[in-house]
Amino acid sequence: MRWCPSSLLHLLCCLRLRVCSRRGRVRPALRLRELWAYVRLVLLSLQYNSLTNSDVVFDSIFEPVFWTVDRITRWFGMVFVCMVVILTSSILLICYTILIPMVLFTYSPGWVAWHLCYGHWNLVMIVFHYYKAIRTAPGYPPAVKNDIPFVSVCKKCIIPKPARTHHCGICNRCILKMDHHCPWLNNCVGHFNQRYFFCFCLAMAMGCMYCSISGRNLFLDAYNSLERFKDGQRVGVPVTGMGLLIGILPSGQTDYQTPSPPYTFRDRMVHKSIIYMWVLTSTVAVALGGLTFWHAVLISRGETSIERHTNLKETKRLAKRGKVYRNPFNYGKFNNWKVFLGVQKRSHWLTRVLLPSGHVPPGDGLTWEIFPFKRDLVPV
Ligand SMILES: [Zn+2]
Ligand SMILES: [Zn+2]
Repeated sequence: MRWCPSSLLHLLCCLRLRVCSRRGRVRPALRLRELWAYVRLVLLSLQYNSLTNSDVVFDSIFEPVFWTVDRITRWFGMVFVCMVVILTSSILLICYTILIPMVLFTYSPGWVAWHLCYGHWNLVMIVFHYYKAIRTAPGYPPAVKNDIPFVSVCKKCIIPKPARTHHCGICNRCILKMDHHCPWLNNCVGHFNQRYFFCFCLAMAMGCMYCSISGRNLFLDAYNSLERFKDGQRVGVPVTGMGLLIGILPSGQTDYQTPSPPYTFRDRMVHKSIIYMWVLTSTVAVALGGLTFWHAVLISRGETSIERHTNLKETKRLAKRGKVYRNPFNYGKFNNWKVFLGVQKRSHWLTRVLLPSGHVPPGDGLTWEIFPFKRDLVPV
């Protein structure tokens, strides 16, 4: 008896349709017997299926949950994209209205040049790669008859699946070299847009780290000021709270005895904006930094996120037989990066990596050569 992971859901749908279609014509007792027959069939198919294992049972039980999550992610796709745009725009607004004027008036020309050049390069990299990651199709296998070698047939699309192709339940189609479906892009990450996705994550993590590190003292000052004046505009209030705990003030200096300048509404808004910016960028820097690092490890190994799981399984399976599994798409750490970034000559490190570039990745995503890049094939 053949089993597919969605069969439980499918059978339940059939059951509902069958019962509904005969409503009014079939007696309740007969309908109950049919119901029981279907439920029994489902249970037997799970129990006496030669392909059943813990994964199949897990998939079957959680199929309705996956189905619901897939649909919710699809419906809220644009909401996540809008969140990225709004949050990034809010940080930019704070940078351009508060931080850059502060930098221009207080820093030396060398530091001003550094902040302006690095900040704007980082911004261009974020915007370019995010736009391209959203707008570039990840790549789909052809739905018409062809001679492309395939490794299996998709049970949902009923088309041949080339190597590294997987079905995305949210996009509801097969994706070439699928890595994962990214709700923040409202798009799948696959063969043709994986570089844009990774470069966006890297640029965004770098930008957040840059804001977090360079804005640390501003954050501490802002927090300190808000703590001091949180009970209204008063003078001579002891400095308490986190500012004191982490040793902002020298020991013994806990009271302001001299009148401080008036704390205006604008000051409060500026300080709150700086605190918001620092907390948001620090949080994203840690979370996205971790994600980017993990993807960098996968790229070094020549694996996608999905292949990481399948390769681990295969490694364990072969280890039990005393064999060693070798990933056929791992061309060596350095070559994996060159293939991923599309670097074919030295100048590409500048034009294709450090600057925004719209070049397509090598290969068509349908056929894969095993170890095509020898160590000395690309003189980089
Ligand atoms: Zn499919
Ligand atoms: Zn998808």
